[in-house]
Amino acid sequence: MIIEDANYYIDGVLEGNRRVIAKTITLVESSLLAHQNLAKTIIDKLSPYSGKAVRIGITGVPGVGKSAFIESFGMMLLKDKHCIAVLAVDPSSKKSGGSVMGDKTRMERLAVEERAFIRPSPSGGTLGGVVRKTRETMIVCEAAGFDVMIVETVGVGQSETTVASMVDFFLVLMLSGAGDELQGIKKGVVELADAIAITKADGDNIEKAKRATKEYETALHLINPTSPSWMPPVVTCSALTLEGINEIWDIVLNHREKQKGSGEFEEKRKKQAVDWMWSLVEEGLKDQFYKIPDVIKMLPKVTKEVERGKTAPTAAVYELLSSISNKKI
Ligand code: GDP
Repeated sequence: MIIEDANYYIDGVLEGNRRVIAKTITLVESSLLAHQNLAKTIIDKLSPYSGKAVRIGITGVPGVGKSAFIESFGMMLLKDKHCIAVLAVDPSSKKSGGSVMGDKTRMERLAVEERAFIRPSPSGGTLGGVVRKTRETMIVCEAAGFDVMIVETVGVGQSETTVASMVDFFLVLMLSGAGDELQGIKKGVVELADAIAITKADGDNIEKAKRATKEYETALHLINPTSPSWMPPVVTCSALTLEGINEIWDIVLNHREKQKGSGEFEEKRKKQAVDWMWSLVEEGLKDQFYKIPDVIKMLPKVTKEVERGKTAPTAAVYELLSSISNKKI
């Protein structure tokens, strides 16, 4: 049975009670209407307590070393008395019967730490749905006192762009691959980067990683920087030897200070809030659309007609959308 009193969750989260935090996130992730309504009340009340954390987005292809990096980075932050929450955005999760991030137990050392909280990606649904839940989970964690939020994603569809739009600092992890270093780069991802870190810079790989930094630096110079006050640095790091891990935290703090000084930090947070509102509007509209009885009735027939070429897509859309104008909201 679910406890229906919103104050139970609000008080528990504000006290930092891990069981209540987990229960609250379960509500946030639930697709049941009653849970969603309760979650909405809780999130509204918790929102004023959120926003103070350092929000870091991390992306990179599977195998680049995201889990290993976050674990080393997280353990270092714990030593500095930080509380760290790690959330994941993986829209592939469940849909294909497994997730790109993998079902392996990730970040085992970090997972057992008292001041660390790791939450896998909410599963199923659209990227929009997954992101909504992640944003709300971020509010819960921040209200609970976690002061460093890490949102991890693999580049599935638009997930990098979306994660970049919910954090203060976006870190792109890259491999010093064999051959042409730049081949694997999706230009769009580099454009989002506030820093690039070449992973696994240890052992025989050190030289290769150093060479890769030069190439990425050149690539970055060809791109408009994300901010007028910030040129994204390229560094090497190793989750094994911990080389470069500390430096990346210094870069994050330096970026934060500069952005706050120039007013960009405030501006970015404001823009993110408005973007978030619009993505909720879009998601809400879509949800409502699929719930309209006429749409539910018409959709299979109209889809078949479009498939067979009997109805033009434009005409089908007109017919479907006219159900919205007929519907009293
Ligand atoms: P993810 O899929 O991006 O989360 O990548 P993982 O963190 O699971 O790492 C993929 C593989 O690379 C694993 O076998 C790790 O042990 C290895 N790995 C990760 N980081 C490092 C590193 O800094 N140095 C070395 N040598 N191997 C690493």
